[in-house]
Amino acid sequence: MKIHEFQARSLLEKALIPVPKSTMVQRVEAAESEARALLAAGSKMIVVKAQVHAGGRGKAGFVRVVTTASDAHAAATFMLGNRMISPQTPPDGLAVQRLLVADAVEIAHEYYAAVLVDRARRTNTLIASAQGGVDIEKVAAETPDALIKLALDPLLGLQPFQARSVALALGFRGKAIGQAVRVLTQLCALQRSTDATLVEINPLVLTVPSDVHPDGQVMAIDAKFDFDDSALFRQPAIAARKDPADENPAEIRAEAAGLSYVALDGNIGCLVNGAGLAMSTMDIIKLHGGEPANFLDVGGSATEEAVTEAFAIILSDRRVEGVLVNIFGGIMQCDRIARAIVGAAKSIGFRVPLVVRLEGTNVAQARAILEAARTEIPTMQTARDLTDAAAKIVSAVSVSV
Ligand code: GDP
Ligand code: MG
Repeated sequence: MKIHEFQARSLLEKALIPVPKSTMVQRVEAAESEARALLAAGSKMIVVKAQVHAGGRGKAGFVRVVTTASDAHAAATFMLGNRMISPQTPPDGLAVQRLLVADAVEIAHEYYAAVLVDRARRTNTLIASAQGGVDIEKVAAETPDALIKLALDPLLGLQPFQARSVALALGFRGKAIGQAVRVLTQLCALQRSTDATLVEINPLVLTVPSDVHPDGQVMAIDAKFDFDDSALFRQPAIAARKDPADENPAEIRAEAAGLSYVALDGNIGCLVNGAGLAMSTMDIIKLHGGEPANFLDVGGSATEEAVTEAFAIILSDRRVEGVLVNIFGGIMQCDRIARAIVGAAKSIGFRVPLVVRLEGTNVAQARAILEAARTEIPTMQTARDLTDAAAKIVSAVSVSV
């Protein structure tokens, strides 16, 4: 689960990581009056930022630093009236419903700091760089040595000597060293206490020196969090921040139908019963050179309507170029699946190749139902076993590409 920047800022603030003053607004007039209030309170610059679940806002024109309330009005009008398109959004972009109006700081330097669940190293890893900002992906790809990567001890987390050495390696000096140490330490603790799979501050900035902060102030001016969905049951305060409008629509639909569905990157839609069988189905598709478009477990007790809904969800994904049904009927009766296939063929239509492998309870009835409906489902092939099914769907998809 992701949250918006304004929510991430409030989590950072609670963890005592310095963030500039800001307010979330949903209307142009509110953005303007918030900007006016900040200017009246002493801000010299204001930043207006689109709140969407995608990065690259700066380059897309959806982060604007302004100095007057009327420029804030113009920036808000643009952001709320246009879809934001960046390399991290779908091709047609994302609608912007919320804005953040924040005190803009004068930046001396932009850094990067993140903690993520590092599956390869089987621990949490702190990643930091003195070359933070909007080009961090380029830095990571072209000069990976500019990233400091530190695997954290699962029990001890970030230890004080490590925090100091990272702060020094990033180039912090004077009083800023202590500030950076606190930010890094709190960030690691926050990742752990919120069950986040990713916490990222980019940029973490050092502000230009002032009377109060003669060596500059270390502050977070953008943050991104991703939480482990399986841990949300013990994170009620985080779960309450979920915004259904920002989740994958197919995943919301599946949840409502009691289906367990995860969208993936491939083009072969899968309908399977049982998480273990779903995993092995994805494995065997890959073994045959294909790529699954989703993980979908209809479970054992799904109704015919839920299974029909499962087909509707798979077929609504425009990337799906073929569908593999793999059912081992135990509690789930194969004839229920067969009826749902026929129902989906009638109500939606299989515009793509369909390969069906059924085995187990009521399989004879199921085969008879499918046989009787063959003319209505011209793209359907049946498979003898799982290997046959995977081979058939992979070759059907590569032919149709
Ligand atoms: P992103 O592009 O979606 O990651 O959005 P960010 O919030 O990271 O903003 C992108 C860039 O805008 C930052 O790297 C800064 O250079 C600039 N920016 C954002 N906030 C401020 C601010 O408060 N003051 C100044 N001077 N620049 C800012
Ligand atoms: Mg950023």
